Amino acid sequence: MTSSSGPHFLQIPGPSPVPERILRAISRQVIDHRGPDFARLGQEVLEGCKAVFKTSGPVIIYPSSGTGAWEAAIVNTLSPGDRVLMAETGHFATLWRQMAARWGVEVDFIPGDWRHGADPAAIEAKLAEDRGHAVKAVMVVHNETSTGATSRIAEIRRAIDAAGHPALFLVDTISSLASVDYRHEEWRADVTVSGSQKGLMLPPGLGFTAISDKAIAASKASRMPRSYWDWAEMLKPNAGGFFPYTPATNLLYGLREALAMLQEEGLDAVFARHRRLAAATRAAVRAWGLEVLCLEPAEYSPVLTAVLLPPGHDADRFRKLVLDSFNMSLGSGLGRLAGKVFRIGHLGACNELVLMGALTGVEMGLAAAGVPHRAGGVAAAMAALNSQAGAPDGTPIAAASGSGEVG
Ligand SMILES: *Cc1c(COP(=O)(O)O)cnc(C)c1O
Repeated sequence: MTSSSGPHFLQIPGPSPVPERILRAISRQVIDHRGPDFARLGQEVLEGCKAVFKTSGPVIIYPSSGTGAWEAAIVNTLSPGDRVLMAETGHFATLWRQMAARWGVEVDFIPGDWRHGADPAAIEAKLAEDRGHAVKAVMVVHNETSTGATSRIAEIRRAIDAAGHPALFLVDTISSLASVDYRHEEWRADVTVSGSQKGLMLPPGLGFTAISDKAIAASKASRMPRSYWDWAEMLKPNAGGFFPYTPATNLLYGLREALAMLQEEGLDAVFARHRRLAAATRAAVRAWGLEVLCLEPAEYSPVLTAVLLPPGHDADRFRKLVLDSFNMSLGSGLGRLAGKVFRIGHLGACNELVLMGALTGVEMGLAAAGVPHRAGGVAAAMAALNSQAGAPDGTPIAAASGSGEVG
């Protein structure tokens, strides 16, 4: 049985499916990146991004994947030999740590079990011990895409403050921005790193760093060699809407459209939709009798759900069967989770019926692969969605005023 007709279900936690509106916006002739039309586009997206990061400061846009923006955060703010504090939340935190180490940064990596977010109390304790303020930065992955655990960034900010520590705060929001509430300025992040292909609903190819005044000051003191990633080189032309080298013009057309879509739906409604879809997914997993990888309910990711298969059942074999049978891509287990978990992405342009299609494919796949489970996950997810549906504020239909139409 194969179903290669009809849409492919791209249910990995990034890249996420690109809405038709954005595809059409991108499908336009390229323009002169030194001309007046470009300046208007550049100014519009550089300014428009700020609302999504919740900052009034600059957002730098690179023609890069998120990994490039990771590197930009490191090489602009740190110096070889600097000490930083990181938390082992999963595969992406481990990769960012490895990158910092390659740049000669000494990383104190707080161990983790890949089933929780970063622990604010552990960060506070480490910083309180550091009376000489040798630690130059705290670096945290907001949404750990390999595990489906979302770290509590506001609490980590409070932990840094409680320790009275002046470290910079660098946050990876590559898979959380525009899907999970995030406040660069209010939480006094110094560098917020992101990428285009997850919550922003764009194809891969843009990397972002939102930067604070403190981060800019640190960049002036930093002794890290850099050229392509240098913020100073970007900030000068960005003031007029231009870039120091050829920008990813067509992706910027797409970004303009994505920002408009987010504004039309409203960021709070976007976040609520992600939480609703995630809760329905977990209801399905529980009904199947399987285990959600994330152990802390306060850290359940609105973006993706990682599901543990029972011992002896290979998650990659299961994913292959789902792809071959139902034309759906599920996320693989990364790093030490390889073969043990599969990940269901429910981010970006996802909605109720797409999610229900995806969960149906998972339930049929579990049966076809002979994975021990109970039927009824799909029904449980529908019930969860119905109980949360209704007015945009989440009021159940029965309690909402008026006709009960879904807002
Ligand atoms: C996807 C992702 C990355 C890597 O981004 P690329 O665009 O693949 O370079 C880093 N961190 C997190 C949390 C991610 O989800």
